[in-house]
Amino acid sequence: MENKIRFMNLSIEDSKLRKELLQAVDAVFQHGWIIEGPEVQELEQEIARYCGRQYAVGVNSGTDALFLGLKSLGIGIGDEVITSAMSWIATANAITLTGAKPVFADIREDLNIDPDSIRKLITPQTKAIIPVHYTGKICAMHSIMHLADEHHLHVIEDAAQAFGATYKGQRAGSFGTIGCFSMNPMKVYSACGEAGMVVTDKQEIADRLIALRHNGTVNGEVCLEPSLNGRLDTLQAAILLKRLPQLAQLIEKRHKVAQIYEARLANWVDIPREAAGEYDTFYTYTIRVGERDALQAYLTEKGIETKIRHLYLMPDQPAYQHNAQGDWPNAKRLIKNILCLPIHEKLSRADVEFVAASVEEFYQNRGKD
Ligand SMILES: *Cc1c(COP(=O)(O)O)cnc(C)c1O
Repeated sequence: MENKIRFMNLSIEDSKLRKELLQAVDAVFQHGWIIEGPEVQELEQEIARYCGRQYAVGVNSGTDALFLGLKSLGIGIGDEVITSAMSWIATANAITLTGAKPVFADIREDLNIDPDSIRKLITPQTKAIIPVHYTGKICAMHSIMHLADEHHLHVIEDAAQAFGATYKGQRAGSFGTIGCFSMNPMKVYSACGEAGMVVTDKQEIADRLIALRHNGTVNGEVCLEPSLNGRLDTLQAAILLKRLPQLAQLIEKRHKVAQIYEARLANWVDIPREAAGEYDTFYTYTIRVGERDALQAYLTEKGIETKIRHLYLMPDQPAYQHNAQGDWPNAKRLIKNILCLPIHEKLSRADVEFVAASVEEFYQNRGKD
C-alpha cells in the first residue's frame, strides 16, 4: 500500500543521530569493557538523578526489573501481589515467577488501576501493589501510596511505559519503594535491544539488586541466593546515555500529535486526556471506541496501521484464566473498546491529519456512535 502510515518505525533516519550512536558504540569497542563497562554506571547515575532517586540499577529488561525488584523485597511463595488486570503480561509473569500469586484489580476509564478495587483485594497475604502506568500515564499514586502505608505494603511501580512522565512535577518511578523501567526498542526512551532499570532510595535494596542481577552473587563469586543473569549490556547503556538528552523532545513531539488527535477526534471517540498536573509520555495513544474492530479494519484499508494493546486482559490469558483471582468488570468492558493510533516522532502533520480524518470519516459514515 502506498503512503502506508506505520504504527512504529524504529529505523534511525537522521544521519546526525545515527553517527552519534555509532560513535558511542565504537567507544565501547575501543575500551573493550563489554560487560559492566563504565557506561552502565554512568547511565545508572544519570537515571537516578533524572528520577530524583538515590539509586538506579541497570538490568536486562523491564521484565527482569519487575522480577528482580520483587525478589529484592523478599517477595515469594505464599505472598500475594495486587496489580492491574490490564497490562502487558510481563507484569503478571514477574509476580508468578517469584512464587507469589498475582491478584488482579479493576481499572478506571483512563485504563489505570482503581485504588478502590485494590482496597477490596487486600488480605493478610498481600505484600505489595504493582500499579502499572499504562499508556504512559501515572496512576493515582497519592491514593495508592496512602493505601499502601495504611496496610504496610510495598509499592513497585511498573513504569515500563512511563519513563519521563510526571505527576505534579514528580517523575514516574519515584513514588513507590521501587520503580521499574523497560527501555526495550518499542518504548519511548529506548535502547537498540533489551534493557531495563530499577530505581529506589534504599541502599539495601540497591545492593541486593546488584547481587540478584548477577546470579545472586557478590563480586561474581559468593552466591547468596539463587537468581538469574539479568545485567544491562554496556552497548545498550552507551546508546541510552546518548538518547537521554533527546527524550524531552521526543515526548513533546508525541504531545503535538496528541493535540491534533484531540482537536479532531474528541467529538467522535473517547480520547486519552491529561488532567491538571499530569504529563504523560503517550507511549500509546489509546482511544476507546464503539465498533472497534470495524474501525480498525477501515483504517487498515486506508493504509493506517493500528494496534490493540492488548487483546487480552492478563487474567484472561491461557496461562492465568483458570485460577486468576480478583475482580475486574470495567477492564472486561474496556478491553473490547481500546485501539491504539499511530503516535511517534516520524509522523508528519499530514499523516496525523489523515489518520484523524479517516477516523472521523468512519463515524460520519455510520452516524455518531
Ligand atoms: C514493556 C513492558 C514490560 C516489560 O518490559 P521488557 O523490557 O519488554 O521486558 C513490563 N510492563 C509493561 C507495562 C510494559 O509495557
